[in-house]
Amino acid sequence: MNYLSARCRSVTPYVAGEQPRGSVFVKLNTNECPYPPSPAVEKVLKDFDAGVLRLYPDPDNAALKDAVAKKYGLKRENVFVGNGSDEVLALCFPTFFDEGDAVAFADVTYTFYKVWAHAFGLVSHVVPVNDELKISAEDYLSLPSKVKGIVICNPNAPTGMPMPRADLINIISSNPDKIVIADEAYCDFAQESMIGYLNDFPNLVIVKTLSKAYALAGARCGFALASPELIAGLNTVKNSFNSYTVNAVTEKLAVAALEDAPYYAAVADKIVRQRETTSDALRELGFEVLPSRTNFIFAGHKKIPASEIYFSLKENGVLVRHFKADRINNFVRITIGTPEQMNVLLDKVKKLLKGKL
Ligand SMILES: *Cc1c(COP(=O)(O)O)cnc(C)c1O
Repeated sequence: MNYLSARCRSVTPYVAGEQPRGSVFVKLNTNECPYPPSPAVEKVLKDFDAGVLRLYPDPDNAALKDAVAKKYGLKRENVFVGNGSDEVLALCFPTFFDEGDAVAFADVTYTFYKVWAHAFGLVSHVVPVNDELKISAEDYLSLPSKVKGIVICNPNAPTGMPMPRADLINIISSNPDKIVIADEAYCDFAQESMIGYLNDFPNLVIVKTLSKAYALAGARCGFALASPELIAGLNTVKNSFNSYTVNAVTEKLAVAALEDAPYYAAVADKIVRQRETTSDALRELGFEVLPSRTNFIFAGHKKIPASEIYFSLKENGVLVRHFKADRINNFVRITIGTPEQMNVLLDKVKKLLKGKL
């Protein structure tokens, strides 16, 4: 007797990057922030009254929604929050699509989209990126009618490359009958957000996270921004699943983080500058480095297979990410760390090249 559902048996789950325990790796594999959260966040954690945990958190997370709304010049009704943006993105699928509907996204993008599509009984309409590995807007302008939604990661992961805002606007306005989900997980690293266009497009859903630019991956907090109608739909689905997705500690930490814009602007600035320095250094060493607008770079070397770079770095204490997928299997994704971490990376890479060339 097999007690598992057919869907459970057939879905291939997402594989998250390794989180080695108690080791001394220079960890550049899951795009975490190399700097700590704002001192204001640390203070909230230190002062947190454990007695508060006796009670359930606010099921509406009104304080958190208000902090998000204030930061982006929106209303509370425009904000949905969740236990990481993965949860927010996952809930978008049953909120906006019915079983059997198709959802379009790129072949080279965040691989979780395909997993959610399958998990919620949808059909993946996979659109290849162009020869430069970029998402090409033209490919989204005359999709089949069974496609009810489009998911665009901008800037895209794992390539790090952005789509010009005009192209995204073209996709959204050319598809008024389809929901367009813009995953802006990496938007805080020098890419323009679509937030200013929310009022123009009733079919636009923007999803953001505090895991990357806000150094709160461990707290799990993400949110969606959209029209009050779409947000109400997300709340309906959430409340048919779990009323308390954002816990009381995370809510307070997230509010403190969102209120300290100057700290995080300085952190993003440091990471962006380090990204450019590291990209240049790797190019000097013969790497092809895609032009990134995120906190990671996607790089490959003609003379050494990416899998070998990955394993060799790992043996030498540096963890990066390698995806065994068509078109991108000769690249490794490297999270931008501190200058010291990047020096260790470059040192190991140089040694590897010396032994090989
Ligand atoms: C990291 C990431 C997310 C998920 O972040 P959470 O930690 O779940 O908030 C979503 N989309 C992309 C493209 C990501 O890289």
